[in-house]
Amino acid sequence: MQLYQEQTVRIHNSLTGKKETFIPLNEGQIGMYVCGPTVYSNVHLGNCRTFMSFDMIFRYFRHLGYKVRYVRNITDAGHLVDDAEDGEDKIAKKARLEQLEPMEVVQRYTLDFHNILEKFNFLPPSIEPTATGHIIEQIEIIKEILKKGYAYEINGSVYFDVVKFNKSNDYGKLSGRKLEDMIANTRELTAQDDKKSPQDFALWKKAEPEHIMRWPSPWGDGFPGWHLECTAMSTKYLGETFDIHGGGMDLKFPHHECEIAQAEASNGKSPVNYWLHANMLTLNGKKMAKSTGNSILPGEIFSGENNILSKPFSPSMVRFFMMQAHYTSILDISNDALLASEKGFNKLMEAINSIKSLPEGKKTNFDINTWRQGCYDAMNDDFNTPILIAKLFDAVKHINLIKENTESITIEDKDLLLQTMQNFTFDILGLENKKSSNVDSEKLSGVVELLIQLRKEARENKDFATSDKIRDQLAGLGIQLKDGKEGTTYSL
Ligand SMILES: [Zn+2]
Repeated sequence: MQLYQEQTVRIHNSLTGKKETFIPLNEGQIGMYVCGPTVYSNVHLGNCRTFMSFDMIFRYFRHLGYKVRYVRNITDAGHLVDDAEDGEDKIAKKARLEQLEPMEVVQRYTLDFHNILEKFNFLPPSIEPTATGHIIEQIEIIKEILKKGYAYEINGSVYFDVVKFNKSNDYGKLSGRKLEDMIANTRELTAQDDKKSPQDFALWKKAEPEHIMRWPSPWGDGFPGWHLECTAMSTKYLGETFDIHGGGMDLKFPHHECEIAQAEASNGKSPVNYWLHANMLTLNGKKMAKSTGNSILPGEIFSGENNILSKPFSPSMVRFFMMQAHYTSILDISNDALLASEKGFNKLMEAINSIKSLPEGKKTNFDINTWRQGCYDAMNDDFNTPILIAKLFDAVKHINLIKENTESITIEDKDLLLQTMQNFTFDILGLENKKSSNVDSEKLSGVVELLIQLRKEARENKDFATSDKIRDQLAGLGIQLKDGKEGTTYSL
């Protein structure tokens, strides 16, 4: 008997807008595809949150005993600047600016992506295919769509015929848009445009002579359109119809809408049964953008080297912070929110670490089986991690009362409590038991704060020799003090 036979998972399906009972195509098996990063810059924190949501979902399904084939791709070609239909490839542009081979750019940022995800304790996906590794499969799908009459070739490029497709299918069903409205709201095509309608999108783009990323095709040298790679790779590894497709909310349109159209046009089948979309991360109440300076990289949080946070935060703590919000809600990150979250994180780890040494009694004061099922109910309800964490804190309350001998627990229940806490905290939420290092970092934090205070007093007394000594000696230990309007902060 597997756990999935006892636990019924309900998922919010973006395609229907409803919460539905999850039933996989094949009993005990799940195929899941998630759109991966375009590797032309350091992975940003918002993307990490999206991938972390799906890592948590992957972990929960595995815990329930499902055999999950999880495919998360790497986009290393075809994604044009601003997600546009024309213009430069994001990777080619970076290669030109940094005078690198495009594949050097890909290698550099794929390594960064893996490095950050490893720090966040992600499980690797089952398959991590690349767009450039699947050019042949993409060309085959284009041929098929052309054969079915839903695409046209013009001047060495091939476009998907959205207007024709929409006559027999529903283009816009995922994002809830109507083609007539889309057409009314887009600019008219200019004389340089090859497309018949502004909504048509490229399946294959002719490579201009200066374009460095190019492949031969039946339509001449070119490169695939961005949307096509996900259709090619998901079909190849998960089949024409599979269980779950995930990605960030921003990919719903046009990217995922186009994936549906490509699949339906090439093989007549709806590609995905459950579409899941993770929401975005804001910083201090505003959208993150490098251009406005309201942005922070994961590495900068771990080291504290930034002007936004007063101290460094461990990857596992940041993961805990992200898990405190439901994956479909917008989450705002700020120094105060992280500080508050850190207290909770340490309390949880401390409680888990103390379970083994709890005194054993003749009875248990709370219904541990009901509590345990409550943890499953939270996860079964569209992976509601904030409710799950509240349940874990219910247990923390009992653990602390047992420690004080106000409550008691039997030996059997103690084992079940420990196992359940470990399953949900480490296996499913993916947190790491870094209590000892957190205690160390708390102590370090306390000592540095004390020195910052002494330095402030020295400066107020015009004792600059002492204040400089404190700053320089801390710097010698790799702790940088930063003086700002809000006072002094530090980074490691
Ligand atoms: Zn995709």
